[in-house]
Amino acid sequence: MTAKIYYDNDADLSHLKDKTIAILGYGSQGHAQAQNLRDSGCTVIIGQRPGGANYDLAKSHKFEPMSVEDAVKKADVVNILLPDEVQGDIYRNSIRPNLKPSAVLMCSHGFNIHFGQVEPPKGVDTLLVAPKGPGHLVRSEFVKGGGVPSLIALGEGASEKTRQIGLAYAKGIGGTRGGVIETTFAEETETDLFGEQVVLCGGVSELVKAAFDTLVEAGYQPEMAYFECMHELKLIVDLFYQGGLNYMRYSVSNTAEFGDYTRGPRIITQETRATMKKILYEIQSGQFAREWILENRAGAPAFKASRRRDRGLLIEQVGRRLRKLMTWIDSKEV
Ligand code: NDP
Ligand code: MG
Repeated sequence: MTAKIYYDNDADLSHLKDKTIAILGYGSQGHAQAQNLRDSGCTVIIGQRPGGANYDLAKSHKFEPMSVEDAVKKADVVNILLPDEVQGDIYRNSIRPNLKPSAVLMCSHGFNIHFGQVEPPKGVDTLLVAPKGPGHLVRSEFVKGGGVPSLIALGEGASEKTRQIGLAYAKGIGGTRGGVIETTFAEETETDLFGEQVVLCGGVSELVKAAFDTLVEAGYQPEMAYFECMHELKLIVDLFYQGGLNYMRYSVSNTAEFGDYTRGPRIITQETRATMKKILYEIQSGQFAREWILENRAGAPAFKASRRRDRGLLIEQVGRRLRKLMTWIDSKEV
């Protein structure tokens, strides 16, 4: 099965004509999508709480940010671009009571709608348009005349008209310049969580930590362990990005390639694959969502403890020092 992909010619911006789009949250996605839509000729208003840098940013971009409540009251299309863990409460308190009866409710990640934290009233269609990249790229590519590939999904029972609005929205943010893949809320939400847990965030971090610890415990210098197990990862990932596994293998030495084939499968074993299936099941069954929602209700104690613990790791201390020596790295500290 190959995905359905939409391009510029499949989308018509006139479906957003006469519609007011409220962007809730002027963060990574909010600031990018709002400006791109405005540059595409759409009417955009911003719901952003005052007091922080994002409020000032919206002002400096010549928007007049207002409360979430006021923005929702005025809007025909409402896009919730707030952090996923606060969306449920803000939806119940400030969005739902103010929604126009036939508004379209949008998001860029399906978590809250798929797992029932944002439940649209009857008559309100749900729609997902998700750029496959961070907000700053969504903006910078658009300004250059390009666009970041995006996903589109219609909520249960959404109309054909809502699909047209979704395609127009995707065009407005530049998505159809890169291609817009049709998916479902379930597929977007579940694959997104799986990817970040198993590979992108969870899998890779743990792999790097375990390899670093193995070298240091064997008596090698932590600086050497840092370079081999963390720093050089970027070089490899860049090769994947440009030409897949094959290009990485073409670029590294034959010795490295031989080690890859013979040792890799001993690191990611049948047991690891079985665990991946279990993690996928926990996502599909809602067990992970429940855990994360309850964790936040409790004030996120386990989450904060993990953050604290990992910030103190040796690999982080060594890395901080080494990155300062590499002046070409745009090194960051938060
Ligand atoms: P950010 O964290 O960058 O921005 C969040 C915005 O929400 C900020 O303007 C922030 O304002 C506001 N906000 C945060 N907490 C509250 C609160 N309690 N009450 C009111 N406003 C609040 O979010 P992202 O842009 O990263 O994410 C938005 C959505 O986009 C999410 O659903 C995410 O999954 C999705 N997404 C994100 C991608 C990314 O690369 N970042 C990629 C694709 C999808 P303030 O400055 O005042 O805190
Ligand atoms: Mg993702």
